[in-house]
Amino acid sequence: MRAQNPMRNLLALMKKLPLAAFAGIALALAANALPVAAAFAAQQPRNIIIMFADGAASTQWDFGRYSSKVLRQQPFVTTDVVFREGVLGLLSTSPSGAYVTDSAAAGSAMSTGFKVSNGAVAITPDGKAVPTVMEIAKAKDKRIGLVTTATIYDATPAAFSVHARSRRDAQSVVDQYLALEPDVLLGGGADYFLPQGAPGGKRNDGKDIIATFRAKVYQVARNTAELNAANGPKLLGLFAEGDMDFEIDRDPAREPTIAEMTVAALKVLSREGPNGFVLLVENENTDTAGHANDAASLMRALWAFDDAVKVVLEFQRRSPDTLVIVTGDHETGGFSPTNALKELGALSGGKRFYSGDEQLRMLEPITMSLNMAKEKLGKQPSGEALDKLIPLHFPGFRLDPDLREAILDQKTREHNFSYLPQNVLGRMIARQTGYYWGTSGHTTQPVPVGAIGPGAELFRGYQDNTDFGEHLHRLILGD
Ligand SMILES: [Zn+2]
Repeated sequence: MRAQNPMRNLLALMKKLPLAAFAGIALALAANALPVAAAFAAQQPRNIIIMFADGAASTQWDFGRYSSKVLRQQPFVTTDVVFREGVLGLLSTSPSGAYVTDSAAAGSAMSTGFKVSNGAVAITPDGKAVPTVMEIAKAKDKRIGLVTTATIYDATPAAFSVHARSRRDAQSVVDQYLALEPDVLLGGGADYFLPQGAPGGKRNDGKDIIATFRAKVYQVARNTAELNAANGPKLLGLFAEGDMDFEIDRDPAREPTIAEMTVAALKVLSREGPNGFVLLVENENTDTAGHANDAASLMRALWAFDDAVKVVLEFQRRSPDTLVIVTGDHETGGFSPTNALKELGALSGGKRFYSGDEQLRMLEPITMSLNMAKEKLGKQPSGEALDKLIPLHFPGFRLDPDLREAILDQKTREHNFSYLPQNVLGRMIARQTGYYWGTSGHTTQPVPVGAIGPGAELFRGYQDNTDFGEHLHRLILGD
């Protein structure tokens, strides 16, 4: 499936050259293909940084832009710089055997150029382990780094670097990291680095993999201060047993921001090595917020992600031989800000509001993610706890009787809104703001790709996520 198409490659190349060069290309074509290959080499970036917001498609990006402008009075550089000034493309996302993808299959296609089944990590349906972006980068003597707000062994970072029949094989993924030795590993997921019996440990083989990384001369950071002080050539940072917290819930002393992790990763990766580096920075919270139908957490996760994109663009200003790509793997939640009825009882069109600045401003005082609300309310939420939590952390929101009942009964009226109470609280927010969601799962919305820097032109237009993987391989291998 990753067949190279010389004519398509040539067309992509021609698109990025000035008109005067076309005559030269035609002549070269008539003679031999060598000058074309030489022209391509000039477009080969030394460094590639992939900024990846899981679950983010056009609606999420535009929500980031709009909310940044109104509430932060700041540009949102993903849309305002990368999408606007760089090359913009769209990717279809279907995996092998389905229309809707999961993160493992989408990440695998984007990393290897091959379609795999949902749940598989860079292993095709016929059982072949196909080369990942980080494997070929390593083979080309590039330094490599993985950064995420999820567990470091989660589907996306795993699919960009290693192989597993199931994304749930966390222990195997961690073992493969140990063999691959990425120069930077930053995120959550200390649990599968530590043996059962150690605090928070889940490994079933009694091994302490953090100690093994340390013996391989990795610096180990377990909190923000240790991360900021890191200055060695290799870095392992694990800031949570499982996923790192939502930006809205984060304790800044314990867990760094995604921008702080990006700064630390660039410090390590740019320090030495003649062949540059490949870095993947993933924000998983954009996906998790979508599953929970949590507009306020999504907004803050998008802002935190965009702050990391600012760090990367500043790095590129100083190292222009860097290709910066901003993208996602699929859309999550069927996020759809819309017009809505002011009161549920009034069905007349005149009683509608069109979601705008006034509704957006209602999200700003929310101080808790819906996942954290679930944790605080416990397995059997009481009416009393609910009546305390809402005015304290969701000021201005009213919980209608039908929604209140759904939370207390722990029964959803919509089978596919199965995150309780998150999806019900998400509906509470939707009724007053117009921030509705179509599902608690993934959707087929094509995902935007913004690329800026050498090689960016390859990503223009409507493509498939396997094309994205092919382009990365080509840019790294130089073929
Ligand atoms: Zn997801």
